[in-house]
This record gives sequence, C-alpha cells and structure tokens, in this order.
Amino acid sequence: MINLPPYEFMNGPFMNGLPISEAFATRTFWSIQDAKWMQKALQLAKQGAKAGEVPVGAILVHNQQMIGQGFNEPIGRHDATAHAEIVALRDACARLKNYRLPLQTTLYVTLEPCTMCIGALIHARVDRLIYAASEPRAGMVGSQMNLSAQPFYNHNIHVHRGLCSDHSSQMLKAFFRERRKAAKKSDK
Ligand SMILES: [Zn+2]
Repeated sequence: MINLPPYEFMNGPFMNGLPISEAFATRTFWSIQDAKWMQKALQLAKQGAKAGEVPVGAILVHNQQMIGQGFNEPIGRHDATAHAEIVALRDACARLKNYRLPLQTTLYVTLEPCTMCIGALIHARVDRLIYAASEPRAGMVGSQMNLSAQPFYNHNIHVHRGLCSDHSSQMLKAFFRERRKAAKKSDK
C-alpha cells in the first residue's frame, strides 16, 4: 500500500484546498468521488515512478466503478505509445471486450494529455476528462492548444483541470530532481 501525504481536500471535500470564499469565487469545486479517483490516479503515478518511469497515472471510471487503469510505462513496455491514458484505455477495452467505452465514462489523469492521448480519448468517446497538473510544454487540452474544443471532431469531451495539481507537479518535480542527481553521480 502506498501512503500519500494528506490532502487539503480532506478538510473540505468540495473546496480543493481553497478557503470556501475563494472556492466560490473561482468555482473550483470537486466532489468527494472526484477527489477519491484522482488520489487513485496519483497512486498509480507513484507506482510508475518506482519503476523508473515518468510518474503519470490514469484511471477510467464508469458508474463510480474503475473500468481501466494504468501508468506511464513506455520503458517497461518497450512502447512509445504507453502513456498512462493509453494504457488505461487498453485496459478498459480489454476488460469490456469493446473498442468503445460506455457512455458517461470519466478519465482521471495526473497530467494534461498530449496530442496522441487526447486523440485516443476522443476516439474512445470518453465523456469527461479531469486532469491534475498542466503540461505547459506539450499539453494539448489548454496549454499549447485545446484539441478538446475543436469543432471538427464528432465527439466532445468535457474537461476539468486542476484537481490535486500541486501534488501531481510535486511528484513530477521530485522525480526529475532524483533523475538529475543520479545522472550527475554516474558522470563522476
Ligand atoms: Zn500522452
């Protein structure tokens, strides 16, 4: 069992760590369920970090049941497409024996999706995407571009961002810090 540091939202489940007045003003409200699933995605990300992969975790949820999950694993799987979202999608489709997901499926992922992943989520007809940290360099759901808002797709995804973003970015920063340290050591 992986222990995560306690969350601010544990003190105020609907406020994402913000004082209530600020939460009202910025409309950053999350349900207890959303918080719970994102925590599970963070646990998956941590599992990835332990395996030496960039820590990103994803979980697909339908009717408050997990239907697929995964973490970023291109090194371990020898697969450039093994981003957390893709691994979770493949896991769900294999379990359901269907290339399409059920209606009203939500994907929780700890980092803003890239071009490939937002494309795959559209093809799989994910209804709702909730991501934690933004990816300023190559994020395609708001940072560099917003592919989820393009009118030429025949499926629209509802996107919400920022749930547990601090925790996710801290985990990523810690991972890269460790990796740089290790690289320096091996240089000596
Ligand atoms: Zn991706």
